[in-house]
Amino acid sequence: EGTIIVQVRVAPLGEDYVLLLADDRTEITRTEAIRNDFVANVSHELKTPVGAISLLAEALEASPDDEEAVRRFAQRMHKESLRLSALVQDIIELSRLQGADIVQQGHAVDLNNVIAEAVDRSKLQAEAKHIELVTGGTAPSPVFGDADLLVTAFRNLIDNAVRYSPEHTKVGIGLRRTEGLVSVSVSDQGDGISTEEQERIFERFYRVDAARSRQTGGTGLGLSIVKHVISNHGGEVTVWSQQGKGSTFTVRLPEMESQQNQGADGGIED
Ligand code: ADP
Repeated sequence: EGTIIVQVRVAPLGEDYVLLLADDRTEITRTEAIRNDFVANVSHELKTPVGAISLLAEALEASPDDEEAVRRFAQRMHKESLRLSALVQDIIELSRLQGADIVQQGHAVDLNNVIAEAVDRSKLQAEAKHIELVTGGTAPSPVFGDADLLVTAFRNLIDNAVRYSPEHTKVGIGLRRTEGLVSVSVSDQGDGISTEEQERIFERFYRVDAARSRQTGGTGLGLSIVKHVISNHGGEVTVWSQQGKGSTFTVRLPEMESQQNQGADGGIED
């Protein structure tokens, strides 16, 4: 399936024969390409706010007496610097994930506490848009993993639900247990995501509407962080959505007892 990349080395063996050594470089080349891609994307994403801040600073220097302009430029500089700091934070989070070994550093985690903490951290954003965060259900048994990483993942899902919903709507966070799994769903009454877009939103820096995402403080890395955290915990994240009818993101994590028999998936891909 696809192309195989080989590196061939030739060594003469006497007069009549040569020895051909072929190394399969497919996986290494693929990993390198993904890394280069990521670095290129990061550079591009960082350049935008840094460039804007630098231009705004120049403009400020040029018109120190125009109070209205000074106020406007300062406001925009503030916004760009917040964006820059959100980006840096997400990039650090992603690189921290690359080195995370859940199997080694994990412990029993009560998902009820994780969700309470994530909801608490998203509260201010929700209040600013008069969005009610409604939590229901409980997780009766613990999962195995890293509580901080799980809080980050659920916070990203709740922040997105708030970010892509109109004011005066509700975001539901439901916990349930089904056959050795604990599932957490985050549902919103936002615009929804088309079927084609649903396949791409978990990619790094992919945004359906880059301008809107940027304006509301999105970095394009949120869902890719969610995917990594959840797959590192041996779980999966899925999305159900219909345009105009909102979206539901569902995370399924193995309960600790059932997972101990199988072992967690500690690796990271893509
Ligand atoms: P961002 O920082 O842009 O929100 P994410 O990786 O978290 O980046 O999400 C990628 C894209 O998926 C978003 O830009 C948005 O277009 C779409 N998206 C994510 N969550 C939702 C949601 N709850 N409702 C509608 N669209 C969403």
